[in-house]
Amino acid sequence: MLDPIDQSPLAVNVHGVMLAVMAEAQTVRVVKHCGFKSISRREAAVLFGVSARMIQAQATVTVEKIDLIPVFLRCWTDLTANSPQIWARRFVDQVVTPHAELFSGFTGEVTVERAAQYLDRVESLVGDIRTLHKWIAEGFDGKLDDFRKHLPDFKWSGSIVFMPTLFGFDAGGGQMNGKSYLIFGLDTIAKVYGPNADLSVLFAHEFFHLYHGSFHQPRQGEVRGRTIPLFRLVWTEGLATYASQQLNPGAGLAAIFLSPTLASSCEGNLKALSTALLQDLDSTERGPVMEWMSGQTRISDVPPRAGYYFGWRVAQSLGREMSLPQLARLTDNEVHKAILTELRSLASSQGR
Ligand SMILES: [Zn+2]
Repeated sequence: MLDPIDQSPLAVNVHGVMLAVMAEAQTVRVVKHCGFKSISRREAAVLFGVSARMIQAQATVTVEKIDLIPVFLRCWTDLTANSPQIWARRFVDQVVTPHAELFSGFTGEVTVERAAQYLDRVESLVGDIRTLHKWIAEGFDGKLDDFRKHLPDFKWSGSIVFMPTLFGFDAGGGQMNGKSYLIFGLDTIAKVYGPNADLSVLFAHEFFHLYHGSFHQPRQGEVRGRTIPLFRLVWTEGLATYASQQLNPGAGLAAIFLSPTLASSCEGNLKALSTALLQDLDSTERGPVMEWMSGQTRISDVPPRAGYYFGWRVAQSLGREMSLPQLARLTDNEVHKAILTELRSLASSQGR
């Protein structure tokens, strides 16, 4: 159903849960949970519409915010549409078309038929989306400022977008037409995490991916599930998870893992899971990547997204001696060695 192979000029590093609707988008290929989404499509034009707002500009660093949620919410304030088709047409005309490239690039083409199906599914979540958006309107800029204060060498330039992703993904970053984007899908966040989702943690996790990535530029031709060794994915996600905790000291394990059960399910089987992960660590293939990094259901006893947990443990161990900027700059060899040390220690420990 979902294909991690990236052969297009566009690649989105997606965090979080991919839901079934994404598979309906013929032009989009996705790996669940922080996988790469590849989009076969023409070169896109620059996307900014009238809703783009500059929130900070420096000589070389520019972050723009594009918020499509107000116009999305307005679809529910005028309920004169008397048929699903008319309503869907209005959604396409008012929400999608003004940002056609954004939707095409990150959700796949939105036809009236697809919009009608989507609106039927999202209607019950509109109140939750409104609640989440209120927090964003009041708190997001402050969170970004806090992040910059903690990590003043954060130099990312790009656009932060709040939009309905048609239940495609909760958050993810990517390049389109030479520009960087960080997308938050409030519909998916509402569906998966609910209206009380800890957005501070999610933002910190995603910002840290951008920060971390600024010290490790992607190599030519590398593809998740084909050429990137598993240990790098474990580290990338584990470190972002650890950073989100450091930047939100009050957040519990359920919040930083976006799961109430991930930590406990790993801790209940540490020895066997560490031994198994040691064997897969250098694999570049799709099977182990999905096994350790995806949230999909499986028949093995590896909990969904267990790679996040073990990467977080490694970051936590290293973090006793190192700061976040130091951790972000570790080389592949240093990371590989640290993961081996942590996993061997867990695998040889007493108890479970
Ligand atoms: Zn992530």
